[in-house]
Amino acid sequence: MALPKIVVLGAGYGGLMTTVGLQKELNYQEAEVTLVNQNPYHYVTTKLHEPAAGTLDPEYARVEIASVLKQDKVKFVQDRVIKVDPENKEVHLADGEPLKYDYLVFGLGSAPETFGIKGLLENAFFIRNLNGVRLIREHIEYMFAKYNTLKEDRDDLLTIVVGGAGFTGIEYVGELVDRIPELCREFDIPREKVRLINVEAAPTVLPGFDKELVDYAVKYLEERGVEFRINTPIEECTPEGVVLKGGEKIDSATVVWTGGVRGNPLLEEAGIETARGRVKVDEYLRAPGYEDFFVVGDSSLIFNEEERPYPPTAQMATQQGQHLAKNLTALIRGGSMQPFKFDLKGTLASLGRGSAIGIAFGKKLFGTKASILKRINDWRWYYLIGGLPLMFKKAKF
Ligand code: FAD
Repeated sequence: MALPKIVVLGAGYGGLMTTVGLQKELNYQEAEVTLVNQNPYHYVTTKLHEPAAGTLDPEYARVEIASVLKQDKVKFVQDRVIKVDPENKEVHLADGEPLKYDYLVFGLGSAPETFGIKGLLENAFFIRNLNGVRLIREHIEYMFAKYNTLKEDRDDLLTIVVGGAGFTGIEYVGELVDRIPELCREFDIPREKVRLINVEAAPTVLPGFDKELVDYAVKYLEERGVEFRINTPIEECTPEGVVLKGGEKIDSATVVWTGGVRGNPLLEEAGIETARGRVKVDEYLRAPGYEDFFVVGDSSLIFNEEERPYPPTAQMATQQGQHLAKNLTALIRGGSMQPFKFDLKGTLASLGRGSAIGIAFGKKLFGTKASILKRINDWRWYYLIGGLPLMFKKAKF
């Protein structure tokens, strides 16, 4: 009898956790598990703001997929998914033959949400993947290097605009606060020449966060030279910088957009019902109307008890992956699935290398203590996918 085919798309937090869980739960020859990812490596998305600022070697945010898979239990296909076809139970790849599945796990992450801001996709940078963050780091260094070679005063080269003061925006600004003094020393530029501006449309930094934590973050970052422009939507992004609501222009050679994400467009293209590209999954993480199509991570949408959507996080994607691996194993063994329930353990946002804010174990945390806990939490991910050897290899303070 043919083995049931499980195809997992994406080796991010959701997809890789599902795959590693399946290879642990399933016995040999119980199912044919295939993982598809466009790169031969997994990147640790939650750390990408660090290499994007140049405060971390990208190597620490990269894990070879082959190093965490048991090749006799999981087949890895390096390819780009170009289409999913739930009616024919097929996945189409850019290079390879289509893959047939009995169960599909969609974990292809997110796409940037631009809210229709003109010119953003064309002119801004995005913290999205390893190659993208390498480009941002190199670009900033190039701008600093160029500044002193020109005769005219080009302050725009030393002006960095970060769009969005949510989780990713604040974490990135925090890294830049650490990095800018190093860049100034390296390129002989006075610190006061550099501007770091964080623009946010909402009336507060870190919308949804506790006010005391927000105030701490704002004070910490302002003391280190960050200019906040809150309640100020960006109307347009041009090759010269940004235009704010009301017409004010900020000349900037580096605009990095962190203002939001939506689900992966392949879901909408497959005719699956979405809200901002995300699929409201049922209690078993299935797309509506499908018994065999599961969605994990940033492309899934889950509501809390107050009917408010949970934000897309690595914490959510990890728990979904762990749970789904157990449910798929149960299905394959003829058992029944258990409903998924998200267990919010806490939230921590870093403010650079030495500080962070957040809530963990029901307590508010600030500064060094929060920063240490955040690092330990990073290590936990390496441990979950690759055990102690990977954790010791990648863990870094
Ligand atoms: P991802 O981790 O983005 O993985 C998607 C995978 O799919 C990638 O490997 C990608 O290469 C692959 N892929 C995409 N398209 C294709 C295709 N067409 N074909 C083949 N492969 C493809 N969350 C937290 O909980 N805590 C944090 O501290 C935190 N910090 C963050 C900091 C930053 C800078 C960012 C950007 C995000 C942060 N998040 C954090 C959010 C978190 O990283 C995401 O919610 C999480 O990565 C989502 O996991 P995922 O599996 O859905 O997608």
